[in-house]
Amino acid sequence: MIKGAFLVEPLTENKISKIIDLGVNEISLKWEYCNEKHTDILRNQGIKVYAEFSVFVHEEMWRKHPGSRPIDRSGHPMEPVNGYYGVCPNHPKVREEKLMTIASVIENKSIDGLWLDFIRYPCHWEGVRTPPIAEYCFCPNCLEKYEKEVGGTPEGDKWVTWKCEQITGFVKEVRKRIEISGKSIQLGIFAVPWFDDEYGGAIRSIIGQDFRALSSYVDVFGVMAYQKFTGQPINWISDIVEAIDRTTGKSVVPLVQSMDRPEKVSSDEFEYSIGMAIKGSSKGMLIFHLEDLLMNEDKFKILQQVFNSCG
Ligand SMILES: [Zn+2]
Repeated sequence: MIKGAFLVEPLTENKISKIIDLGVNEISLKWEYCNEKHTDILRNQGIKVYAEFSVFVHEEMWRKHPGSRPIDRSGHPMEPVNGYYGVCPNHPKVREEKLMTIASVIENKSIDGLWLDFIRYPCHWEGVRTPPIAEYCFCPNCLEKYEKEVGGTPEGDKWVTWKCEQITGFVKEVRKRIEISGKSIQLGIFAVPWFDDEYGGAIRSIIGQDFRALSSYVDVFGVMAYQKFTGQPINWISDIVEAIDRTTGKSVVPLVQSMDRPEKVSSDEFEYSIGMAIKGSSKGMLIFHLEDLLMNEDKFKILQQVFNSCG
């Protein structure tokens, strides 16, 4: 079973001893923080290291490539939402630069896996409760590429299928880079936790994640099953894991929220959510995130007990 922890800050020696104490067997770390001095200590303990790579996101991209700021159907540029800056997945320079950096991570970092994060069309999905959901992207790059490759009005099944292909196509390129490297690196993506038919099929039409198509290139789906951020009941965690498992046939691992946001996650709720996360066809779980867990002794002990009692 995957007993994982997602880190949002760099590793320290103190954190490494906590990771070992917690019984973790896999960590996810921003690729920029993967330095061998620390990751070797973990790998020598049998703990796998996954590098997390944020793809179509960040304010820096808007500044560097202003044309990468997404445009909605009415021609309005996207506004940032709670610090989230979505990026057009079809900006040629963004795609090229991201792929080059990913290739260098694959070549140069000592890692067991790679997580592609923000591998999707722009949407602040955690905040979505009811349709309509703002759709992107109708920028000149997107419209021109669609006209050239498909043609016609950007709407309906053809448009949605094409959007999904842009995301799947990028993942396919990353898979190729891993194969070329000859290294044994697992490829994962962070999946938006929406069912096929939820919000009128928005997982494909808005997000551009076609789990079935992606499963040809992805080894593991990390499902962002944050029940408080999304306002879902705890049982939903196992329901969405089962649904994505059925669609993909690949390893599915939920990310479980420990953070008290937007409201408190009590110790009881936390314990129950872990139980939901690891049941059924789930291959384990990742705690989101370690730094938060380290500030809560109760939750740390709950997770430690679960990790120590599972094989
Ligand atoms: Zn665009």
